[in-house]
Amino acid sequence: MPELSVPELVALDRAHVWHPYGPMPGRADPLVVESASGVRLRLAGPVHGRRELIDGMSSWWSAIHGYNHPVLNEAARGQLDRMSHVMFGGLTHEPAVRLATRLVEITPGPLRHVFLSDSGSVSVEVAVKMCLQYWRSVGRPSKQRLLTWRGGYHGDTWQPMAVCDPDGGMHGLWTGVLPRQVFAKAPPTEYEEPYADHLRETVARYADEVAAVIVEPVVQGAGGMRFHSPAYLRVLREACDDHGVLLIFDEIATGFGRTGTLFAADQAGVSPDVMCLGKAMTGGYLSMAATLCTSRVADGISRGEVPVLAHGPTFMANPLAAAVANASMDLLLGQDWAQEVKRLETGLRAGLAEAADLPGVTDVRVLGGLGVVQLDHEVDLPAATEAAVREGVWLRPFRDLIYTMPPFVTEDADLARISTAVLAAARAG
Ligand SMILES: *Cc1c(COP(=O)(O)O)cnc(C)c1O
Repeated sequence: MPELSVPELVALDRAHVWHPYGPMPGRADPLVVESASGVRLRLAGPVHGRRELIDGMSSWWSAIHGYNHPVLNEAARGQLDRMSHVMFGGLTHEPAVRLATRLVEITPGPLRHVFLSDSGSVSVEVAVKMCLQYWRSVGRPSKQRLLTWRGGYHGDTWQPMAVCDPDGGMHGLWTGVLPRQVFAKAPPTEYEEPYADHLRETVARYADEVAAVIVEPVVQGAGGMRFHSPAYLRVLREACDDHGVLLIFDEIATGFGRTGTLFAADQAGVSPDVMCLGKAMTGGYLSMAATLCTSRVADGISRGEVPVLAHGPTFMANPLAAAVANASMDLLLGQDWAQEVKRLETGLRAGLAEAADLPGVTDVRVLGGLGVVQLDHEVDLPAATEAAVREGVWLRPFRDLIYTMPPFVTEDADLARISTAVLAAARAG
């Protein structure tokens, strides 16, 4: 194929290529990114006078160190020269072993075993399979359902969809087709004893049929960017222990520092039985996710009637992704990352404060490296995107939310421009 002009690229894209949560063809022309470096996306041609956009999204929570990072590039190149992939059945390799060991070291203590898969949704499927199989193995096969609270998001494959918010979420279409899970009310922002009681009661009432509670700790991401008191996680831990239910924390969005602690679970000081990680794990370079579990869960499964975890993605523990994940964690933990996230929090708080006075804005909230402006209506996506692009910033609002989670390396001046763009998008959208 000869080199494509930008209009040709866009035309072929619209003819053949699905985009996330889009119709075919898409409603609007996508922007063509030619390259990316640091916190900047370089477009193939100028759009509204801009050739470069500051990335306010970290490519959906993942590119925490920015793009084209020399250390991550070197890790990928070095591994590429050794091998980019090898099957994981019967074979192992240093990148995977180092990664798993590192994850066990930095996550809450009781988590000891790691299943490496290729995407966040698959890591949730594995987490669910672990929990259902655990109860089957220990002679409680009726425990097959999941319990969660409303407002969550856990991915787009089947089991994760079943625990996404059933109304208003992206998966309402499948109500009645998906397995019917148990939903508690959405968690309030602040700690409220009646809500804690509601959680306790819901766990107690369904404990006979529920294998696991699954929640996103502290921040519900794609389900609505809502924050809640970490104290609810302690309530869930206790209720699960009291009633023989496993607890899964989906930290795919919150993991690796985004909320101000390395894992959101750290804010509650509790450990789940199973934890899912993904997104920022490879610094946004490659698709990889992990499901960690305790020895109790692993032993239960391994002593069962079918004493294996029957899951094995073709690209399990991909060495290239694992090598980059190791380098990404070296980068993250080798710096005062908490200070950097704090800096983002301070900058976003200052930069977004005046959004509260804009007409149509119902809430402005900031936690760690995440800033959210909520409107009283659905965002006009083309208008809001264009307003941000005119400010030289890439944002991708959804529903009634204009939000940003910049790379941790975003400098103060760029952060201020991101805030300006969020305000502009809120005015336009
Ligand atoms: C993004 C996300 C997922 C799904 O991860 P994919 O890699 O997109 O499959 C699951 N859970 C949470 C909390 C997420 O933010």
